[in-house]
Amino acid sequence: MDGKWKATEEMVRQFDELFVNRRAYTVQSMKPHPESGRHYYYRPTRKQTGEPLALTTSRIRQHLEGDITIAVYAINPKTQCSKWMAIDADYPHALEDLLKVQGELRRDGIQAALEKSRRGAHLWVFFATPVLAREARVYVLNLADRLTLPVKGTGWPEGIEVFPRQDQLAEGEFGNAIRAPLGVHRGAGKRYWFYHADYELESQLRYLAGLERVSEAKLREITRGMSIPKQFTPPMSKSEGLRPYLYSGGDFRILDYVEVRRKAGRNYWTRCPSCAAAGHDTSGDNLAISIEEPMKYKCWAGCTKEKIRAALGRPIPIWRFA
Ligand SMILES: [Zn+2]
Repeated sequence: MDGKWKATEEMVRQFDELFVNRRAYTVQSMKPHPESGRHYYYRPTRKQTGEPLALTTSRIRQHLEGDITIAVYAINPKTQCSKWMAIDADYPHALEDLLKVQGELRRDGIQAALEKSRRGAHLWVFFATPVLAREARVYVLNLADRLTLPVKGTGWPEGIEVFPRQDQLAEGEFGNAIRAPLGVHRGAGKRYWFYHADYELESQLRYLAGLERVSEAKLREITRGMSIPKQFTPPMSKSEGLRPYLYSGGDFRILDYVEVRRKAGRNYWTRCPSCAAAGHDTSGDNLAISIEEPMKYKCWAGCTKEKIRAALGRPIPIWRFA
């Protein structure tokens, strides 16, 4: 485990100002899942009521001090805007690709900060004022197109991952969260720093605060006449292709609907259909299906059985639990 750092009020303020788009957030579990070995993220809730907790300054301090690890969402649902865009790459040669992206951004006069990650890196660009998620995506996806980089979630199994991941959020949606910088990665038990500042909190935040931020006017100027390249428009979501529900005596076998990716422990593991419909679980191992009793399955990101069934076009008939 990395050394213990003290986060001052100013550091917490800087972090909040840079990274927090909305008060909803997720936390990385401290313990790995016993079978998959992964540290899942979950939305923290109040124990008594189940009500989701809002991100407070004290939670941010805990993140910076390494006591918890949070992930932040890219889009504020009230404005459909983001303070930043981030590109995540974690495949072989990911760093090479991100350096290409960084160079291409520089040609547009945009400064980007490179942060190490467990298997690759994240590249961050900050905006002077929050910009529409869609506008940020138009820009970065055109840039990926120029560099002929594959983008995850658009039919490619591997590639860069772009945050914001959605053009906009519908009512009640959260979109995708990215592990917030400067905290401890629970899986690796260490921090990953930005490359261009000393490896301690104060220098890192000072470096980030000093980066030139892209104005909305500049973004509009660069993206004038651009739209999202066709190959990156999202594949049709499962819910659009709903099979008509026929009540067939209630025998629902999840294994008829999903393809198992691997076997570990007492479970099969694969991508959760409900997570997938929201563009989540790109690593494809949130859903555990009991090998012995395949009627039993569970999404480790917390999707309910109702949501999973709905995502498969086989909603649970209401009368069964009315
Ligand atoms: Zn799920």
